[in-house]
Amino acid sequence: MVSRVIPVEPFDLVIFGGTGDLARRKILPGLFRRFRAGQMPEGSRIIGAARGNLETSAYRDLVRGGIQEFGGSESSDGDSLAAFLDSLQYVSIDATGEGGWQSLAGLVRPDVIKAFYFSVAPSLFGALAERLHMHGIADPESRIVVEKPFGRDLDSARALNHTLAEHFREEQIYRIDHYLGKETVQNLMAVRFGNILFEPLWNNHYVDHIQITVAETVGVEGRGEYYDKSGAMRDMVQNHLMQLLCLIAMEPPAQFEAGAVRDEKLKVIRALRPVPAHHIVRGQYDADGDQPSYREEAGNPRSFTESFIAIRAEIANWRWSGVPFYLRTGKKLRARHSEIAVVFKDLPHSIFEGDQARHRNILSIRLQPNEGIDLTVTIKEPGPGGMRLVDVPLDMTFATALGEDGKDVPDAYERLIMDVIRGNQTLFMRGDEVEAAWAWTDPLIAGWERRNDVPKLYDPGSAGPDDSLMLLHREGRRWREIKG
Ligand code: NAD
Repeated sequence: MVSRVIPVEPFDLVIFGGTGDLARRKILPGLFRRFRAGQMPEGSRIIGAARGNLETSAYRDLVRGGIQEFGGSESSDGDSLAAFLDSLQYVSIDATGEGGWQSLAGLVRPDVIKAFYFSVAPSLFGALAERLHMHGIADPESRIVVEKPFGRDLDSARALNHTLAEHFREEQIYRIDHYLGKETVQNLMAVRFGNILFEPLWNNHYVDHIQITVAETVGVEGRGEYYDKSGAMRDMVQNHLMQLLCLIAMEPPAQFEAGAVRDEKLKVIRALRPVPAHHIVRGQYDADGDQPSYREEAGNPRSFTESFIAIRAEIANWRWSGVPFYLRTGKKLRARHSEIAVVFKDLPHSIFEGDQARHRNILSIRLQPNEGIDLTVTIKEPGPGGMRLVDVPLDMTFATALGEDGKDVPDAYERLIMDVIRGNQTLFMRGDEVEAAWAWTDPLIAGWERRNDVPKLYDPGSAGPDDSLMLLHREGRRWREIKG
């Protein structure tokens, strides 16, 4: 196995919202892991910038706590942790006022790569972008990273794109979708475009249908108020599931390069057909013993927001005409399980007498748990007694296949942040992609709002409402099992 890591120049990374939940849980522990892997070149600095007056030493303590809590076993390496914390500084800043900006301008070096991570509410993006320019902190090579949610509909996403475009070129803007940073998702592209085997079959002649499932076991918990204004469609489908769908369905780009990949993804989104109401199932989890229902957790007894959604989507192009794409995602489901399954068609004819079973090749791309890919193939059951056929997986669990228990496989956030520093936008969403995704989801949302559609209740720990099973049953298909 050959791995080539592109070296990185020293950089200054400013994390606006550097004391927030996302920074503590994901961004800083991820950076620490890259530091330990030797990928943060000497002289690189991380500057936390947030509301709240903290000394740098207190900020380092806060970050140490985050890394110890969320950084996994590597955080016990005290020497590395101390060295990493030395690269951290803190500036107290007011995104919407003038406080702190001069200090930040004095700290950030003019002659290194600069990245600004907007880990704050989207309502602050415009103010941050404006001030970075007003104070001469950002230069034409600087990058900004913006978090989801990127708008809540087409209009707001357009407005956000417009605001950012006033100060930054598209090549400087990194809209993060951490699903794209997952090892398996990139491997999906390697498997598709690095092997001769799959691409000839990757079309409506050989693929029966595709399933994309992102199942969570957690409920909305502390995020109830935010989530109730969003729902599974806005929170998960418009971004994560649609990005996965694009990677599965896109045409081979001419090169593995940001512009070419994103052009192909955009074409997929634009080719999605409108979805009729009977191809959408929305659900809400019910109470379970002393566990509260969705409505109780959201604090809204009359909420019509979905904590589960299943959609039968179709792509109107030559490759995929007639192939359903079934998408589903939800909270409080049976297991934490994310998977893309490409289900191939039945054999045209079986030569094995008496074999009544339906043997299907299925390529399953698992995002969690146990990231990996397996291909279900039919073989002869070992032993005497004739030709009995059995379906077995050819399994490639990355942690096992690549050795070292997968411990050096970077997690999504750390990989994506290093891509920002390298200036590689391939795994980030372009502004027109985000807008096209909203343009597809907006009418679906408007449709159920107009109909006053009430989500179906489902039991926590189930696979969602029964109607979602019917979405496939009535076409002679079935969902794959949700299993941990
Ligand atoms: P948080 O509320 O925990 O932290 C917000 C941060 O912003 C704090 O550091 C706070 O000091 C800073 N801040 C707030 N107002 C400010 C101002 N006027 N000037 C300067 N700093 C200000 O939020 P979070 O959970 O860390 O989320 C940050 C962003 O990331 C949000 O847009 C959220 O939607 C998004 N996001 C969060 C998660 C997550 O897991 N937490 C996941 C995906 C996306």
